[in-house]
Amino acid sequence: MPISSSSGRRRAPAGWIALALLLAGCAAPTAAPETGPVPAGPPAAPTAQAAAAAAAAQGAQPAQGAQQGAPVRAARQQEQRQAAQARRDLAAHQSLAVAQRWGLAAAPLPAPPAPAVKPALVEQPGVKTRPGLPPVVYRVPTAARVVFLTVDDGAEKDPEFRRMAGELGVPLSAFLSDYLARSDYGYFRALRDQGAGIQNHTLTHPDLRRLDAAGQRREICGQQDRLEAEFGVRPTLFRPPYGEYTDATLTVARECGITALPLWNEEAFPDRMEWRYADQKLHPGDIILTHFRGAGDWKGTMPEMLRRVLDTVTAQGFALARLEDYL
Ligand SMILES: [Zn+2]
Repeated sequence: MPISSSSGRRRAPAGWIALALLLAGCAAPTAAPETGPVPAGPPAAPTAQAAAAAAAAQGAQPAQGAQQGAPVRAARQQEQRQAAQARRDLAAHQSLAVAQRWGLAAAPLPAPPAPAVKPALVEQPGVKTRPGLPPVVYRVPTAARVVFLTVDDGAEKDPEFRRMAGELGVPLSAFLSDYLARSDYGYFRALRDQGAGIQNHTLTHPDLRRLDAAGQRREICGQQDRLEAEFGVRPTLFRPPYGEYTDATLTVARECGITALPLWNEEAFPDRMEWRYADQKLHPGDIILTHFRGAGDWKGTMPEMLRRVLDTVTAQGFALARLEDYL
């Protein structure tokens, strides 16, 4: 603050400037209305007033607290607790109202806070590792009741889906293949702006098993470059088309800056869920696959698909979380 920084060299003038600002009301926002420094005592010498002004400008919280006394503080804390509860009630009410507007059976459960440290991707059911190479992940290692929604390819760019995902605050990751997404990357930038992750799904969606290492590098690094140019950030996650890959895929992916290859355990459609395991249940950390597809490609719309995903996830006691918070 210019006033404080100059006060060491030119104390008296700075003090008067501070006082003038204070009297003009410039410092008022930093002081609580009922405990402003002006009525605090008799007129004082300029240096004392300058000190009071400087204290007010810095927000003299301890002095104000001491003046209020315990009953005032308790009443204020009670007010703050009631206000916080009212905000939570309002948020719950609003989230139920939004859920009902989109035809959901219940409001989606909120995701727990992101883990402070991402889970270690060591070999275990759901995680395949090779020394020095990015792991392949079907299920993220976590005990939290969270699952992850991943949406592939990028052909359909449905504004209703974007609006629904935005209003409901649905975390999702889009794995984009350039040949399908490039007709309107702006759609996916808008999705990104409302929280979606943008990740790599190759330039032209080939079966990578049919390409040599150089061909795979063109597909993976090429889409890294495209996405970086379109979104300003180089992805860290790569999903091979059809879930098919070779040893070379892992090496090339690492060279292109990829740290993990998320696959999936469930696939969502507008009219059904497909399950990898016979129990037909979600498990903590499961990755759900779906696609940017229109009503011409499958039996329903993207909002219908998202409704099915959210109702399934909520009914089984899970929350959707951001994949990028965990991988
Ligand atoms: Zn695909």
